Order: sequence, then structure tokens, then C-alpha cells
Amino acid sequence: MTTSVFDNIDALKKELLRCMKCGNCMAACPIYNIEKKESSVARGKIALGEIALSSEDIKIDDETLVKLLFNCLVCKSCMMACPSQVRFDRIILGLRAAIAKKKGIPFVKKAIFGMLKNPELFDKGMKAFAVMQGLFLKEQQEKRRTPKGFMKTLGKRFDENFVIPELSKESFRDKVSEVITVKYSKCKALFFTGCSVNYLFPEVGEDLIYVLQKNNVSIVTPKRQNCCGMPVMVHGDIDTARELARKNIDVFEQSDCDYIITVCGSCGSALKTEYPIILEGDSNYEEKAKKWAEKTYDISTFLLKVINFEPPKGKLNLKVTYHDSCHLKKSMKVFAEPREIIKKIPGVTLLEMKKPDACCGSGGSYHLTHPETSLKIASSKAEDIKSTTAQAVCTGCPACMMELFESLHRANAQCDVIHTISLLSKSYKEEEKGNV
Ligand code: SF4
Ligand code: SF4
Repeated sequence: MTTSVFDNIDALKKELLRCMKCGNCMAACPIYNIEKKESSVARGKIALGEIALSSEDIKIDDETLVKLLFNCLVCKSCMMACPSQVRFDRIILGLRAAIAKKKGIPFVKKAIFGMLKNPELFDKGMKAFAVMQGLFLKEQQEKRRTPKGFMKTLGKRFDENFVIPELSKESFRDKVSEVITVKYSKCKALFFTGCSVNYLFPEVGEDLIYVLQKNNVSIVTPKRQNCCGMPVMVHGDIDTARELARKNIDVFEQSDCDYIITVCGSCGSALKTEYPIILEGDSNYEEKAKKWAEKTYDISTFLLKVINFEPPKGKLNLKVTYHDSCHLKKSMKVFAEPREIIKKIPGVTLLEMKKPDACCGSGGSYHLTHPETSLKIASSKAEDIKSTTAQAVCTGCPACMMELFESLHRANAQCDVIHTISLLSKSYKEEEKGNV
């Protein structure tokens, strides 16, 4: 028996007991700030968990309780405000894992998670979806799509202001060479693309390859890498998350790479902070998970702290603001590095928002399952961005990029959304054109 909260109810109860019910987490919680209900915040959910794990009358699979425990972005903002350092992320995922064990995973989720375990099948599904997207998504400018036909009937979120990036018919990993070796290579890094870059933001992957080549790093982008497992973990499906983690670790072991690089806060935190925990006690994978966690870096940390990158000289003349992805800042502790990189780009002025680390409202699938609350959270983020007068908002997570595209569109803001690596790549390209 492991000491993990995902397998051991006593460990979960022990973590619940660390909450001293002070309520400091209330002001930090984006959901509580809108709903003003005790059940929305960490303290309330911890109390519900305590009752469910000790009472004879209320069970963990009680429908109302399940609904309340899924009303959480897993944004970890409460943890930043907690004087007792309660690991609320472990608690909420542990409670959801207990629900999944008792109740099973709902059929639709099970079918989607099943596809994630089979990368070939998932790839075929995404490409088929890309070919058919015109049936329910209208083409807009700059590879954006908005709902049409029956999609508009699927729920509150899918109105005329809903906007998402076009699904690429050719994935990033189809286009890129699996191994790119550069002359005078400083090191060999594995690029863990994540699903969003592979299918929705291939240009972010292209920018990463370009910047790494500029800085003499050889890159391996394994075709057979899997989903990081974070989307299934937050739904309590720890068994599938473990299977995906083991498959990814097998890919890392075969790669002969010195480092793993991520461009997504969620993927990075899955590899760096979650794999060692979900694989605890696994005699074949525990040590490997720890080893690869230490070698995993967000691209901004990698450029600054591992290879001491050569800053670009190309001038951009741009006012930008920076949005902290919850997983990048609150799990991976990466927030100073992207700002340092932005400040090194000639002609770029960084204007801070009032609350740069406030959640964007995405929360994985939270924006689809809880559209009303999510839209309100997203709207206050968009207003904060607008108030900076920045021409672009920069971030280190494709899931946040998607949410920001939509919230800025809804707020009628003239502000681009760009990944930090793409901003850097633009400056190198200007330098090549002689615009210094
Ligand atoms: S993780 Fe985020 S949404 Fe969930 S309780 Fe904590 S602050 Fe609120
Ligand atoms: S801040 Fe921490 S200790 Fe205080 S109520 Fe919230 S979770 Fe409990």
C-alpha cells in the first residue's frame, strides 16, 4: 500500500485534517469570488470530504456531493494563500479518484480517455475531426472558428462569441523531423509537445524548434509520445493517468536525451510534479519518474538557467502583458523566467496586469462544464488585460491561450494572444531581416 492520497484513504483523511478552517483561501478562490458559497471554496470542499469519508449517511458518490467536488478549476490559487500549506490539489484529485473508484467513470469520459491511451487511434480521431470541423464550426479570419448549426444548441458557451483555433489537418508531429541534430550542439532535448500544440497550435511548436536551433540545441520530438495524463487525472481516472505516464516514460527512456522541454504549464507539471506521485510504489517506474521529473523544464527556465541562451537583437516595438498560467506558476514555480525573457527582447515593453496570476477561467474542461462561472472569471481577466493597454498578452500555456482568445474576443479587445516562445521567435526573425 502506498502513502499516496489516490490509493490510501487514511492518507487522504490525514491531509484533510491539516486544514484549520481559517478561511484565508476564500479571497484567493476565483469561483468563491463569484458564487460566494462555502461549497465553492477549498475550506468548504475539505469539510464535505471529511463528512463523506467518515459518515454513514453521506457517501462519496452522492450526486450532490459529486457536483460540488467537480465545481473547482484545480487552479491552486487557494494553496498560495494557505498558512497551513494544505495540499488542496492532492485533496481534490484524491476525492475525485475516490468517486471514480466507487462510481466508475461516466461512459462518454471513459470513451474519450480510452482513445487517449491509444495514440494512433487518438491521432486518427483528431484528424477526422479536423476534416469535419466545417460541419459545425464556421471559418473566421486568422484560423479561428465559431459555432454553427447544431453546435450552437450544445450549451450556453457555444454562442456567436465562442471562438476557438482551427484544428490542424496535419499535426505538428507529422510535419517535424523526429530528430534534428545541430552543429556544435550544446545538448539534446526531448520536446514534449502536448496535445494542444500538436493539433491546435503547431506554430508554437515550430517557433520552439526554431529558437532551440538558433541556440545550438539538438531536438528529439518523438512521434509516439502520449497525452501527459493531466486531463484524465483531474477527472479522477488515476489508472489511465498512470498508464499514460508509464508509456511516456518508456518513450523518454528510449530517447537518450539530456532534458525534456515543455511549452505547456499543464504538461510540464504532469511530468515534473505529478508522475513521481502517481507512480509512487511502482517498482519499475518510480525511480524513472523521479529522474525524468528532474530533467523536465519549461522552455523559459531551460533557455535562461540551463543553456544561458543568446537573447535576440530584432526589434519588435510592442507593448505586452504577461498572464501566469496556474500550473506554470503554482505547480512548476515558473513566473520570473518568462518575464526576464520578455524584458530581454528589444523594443518590447512589459506592462503588468493588476492580477497577472488570476486564473483565466479555463480549468481544463471546467469552461465547458461550468460555462456561466467560467465566463465571469474569463471576463474579469479580459478587463484586467485591457486596462494595461498592451497590444498583446503573452503566456506559457496553450490552454490559457485558447481561453484568452475567446475572452478578449467577447470583451471586444484589440489585443493579440501569443506564446512566450513565439514572441522570442519573432524577434530572432526580425534580427535575420536586419531590423535591429
Ligand atoms: S483550486 Fe482554485 S477553484 Fe478550486 S478551491 Fe482552490 S482556488 Fe478555488
Ligand atoms: S487557507 Fe488552508 S487552512 Fe485555511 S481554510 Fe483554506 S485550506 Fe484550510
